[in-house]
Amino acid sequence: MDNRGRERDYRADFPIFRQNRPLIYLDNAATSQRPACVLEAERDFYEKQNANPMRGLYELGLEATDCYENARKRVQRFLHAGKAEEIIFTRNTTEALNLVAYSYGVSHLRPGDEILVSIMEHHSNLLPWQMVAARTGAVLKFLECSPDGRLTQERIRGAFTPRTRLAAVTQVSNVFGRVNPIREITRIAHEQGAVVVVDAAQSAPHIPIDVCGLDVDFLAFSGHKLLAPMGIGVLYGKEELLQAMPPFLTGGEMIERVGRYDAVYAPLPHKFEAGTVNAGGAAALGSAIDYLEQIGFQALREREDSLTALALEHMKEIPGVHVLGSEDAGEHCGILTFTVDEVHPHDVASILDADHIAVRAGHHCAQPLMDYLKVPSAVRASIAFYNTEEEIRAFTESLSQVRRKMGYGE
Ligand code: PLP
Repeated sequence: MDNRGRERDYRADFPIFRQNRPLIYLDNAATSQRPACVLEAERDFYEKQNANPMRGLYELGLEATDCYENARKRVQRFLHAGKAEEIIFTRNTTEALNLVAYSYGVSHLRPGDEILVSIMEHHSNLLPWQMVAARTGAVLKFLECSPDGRLTQERIRGAFTPRTRLAAVTQVSNVFGRVNPIREITRIAHEQGAVVVVDAAQSAPHIPIDVCGLDVDFLAFSGHKLLAPMGIGVLYGKEELLQAMPPFLTGGEMIERVGRYDAVYAPLPHKFEAGTVNAGGAAALGSAIDYLEQIGFQALREREDSLTALALEHMKEIPGVHVLGSEDAGEHCGILTFTVDEVHPHDVASILDADHIAVRAGHHCAQPLMDYLKVPSAVRASIAFYNTEEEIRAFTESLSQVRRKMGYGE
């Protein structure tokens, strides 16, 4: 345990908490808050290096290009990818997954091929595969989980067939928060000759990721859930796969030469980055990664787990409150999705909001999972390392009043 991590006042790093307004922010899985160093990194780009990267052959233009490409190298080290060319900047996870679906999926899958998708996928890692199935004649199959969100060995082995060509799985579900066995899944998928697409939107902010160690073929995450600005995301892809894929979007910057009727595309990674890029966002993402790694994932995780354990312990004592997923706080990555007997999740969220507590209520963009669980809607409190024990206590205290306020017994 890194004790420095425990003692530091992380909240002081986040300007949003310095405002003169009460705010207990427990919607970190939807989007995180941003520390001052990240906001400064983005501002610095526009104040000191702003020019269109890869276009200006003057000093400032070259500096802008360097800034952007250095951010790419920073992400490469963060993901332990072999080459910077394997890192493609996108707007977010959704765009990254669509890139794989349109570019790899549509061009590689054939009628009768199987696409395996876990039942707990966010719509962003389901709809692109529904689209690929509709366009190619491939068949969509589902990897089911246990009611508490576990993807067991048997279920994984049983779901793959010799026809499986692609598996799309989230590393951490945005409903359960449990870390899925991605290494196990890539091993079995590769035995069958299938590629694996990993949605790391909820894992990248909480656990270290080693794309080579996991042997994933593609992996996507969003900057905005990882302390960086909205509008910058990442797709990692194995070089040989990216090389063989057609571009997703076409236009400026992704070409080497253009004739009237044809074009030669730029090499990786630029082939997949059409149009003016988000260089300020990329620089800020690099700064966010520096900030997180300076705290260290171990310290970060221990702090989030201890706050989650505190919340879970109190929630278990509140009559009528039911938490989805594991009983163990260490298996939630800070995500606590729950229902309250007889009270609609929107009412729960409104009552908490009256106490200035921000949580999410609804289907969490995971409707097939909610259908399977027979829970049409739920509340989600998602905890980050910059939350405090006082905030967690205020949340559970407010939650304990919900049923009474709605006219039900304690
Ligand atoms: N995948 C998961 C597991 C998510 O939780 C989210 C966002 O909530 C997404 C994908 C989509 O992320 P974005 O909206 O940044 O593309």
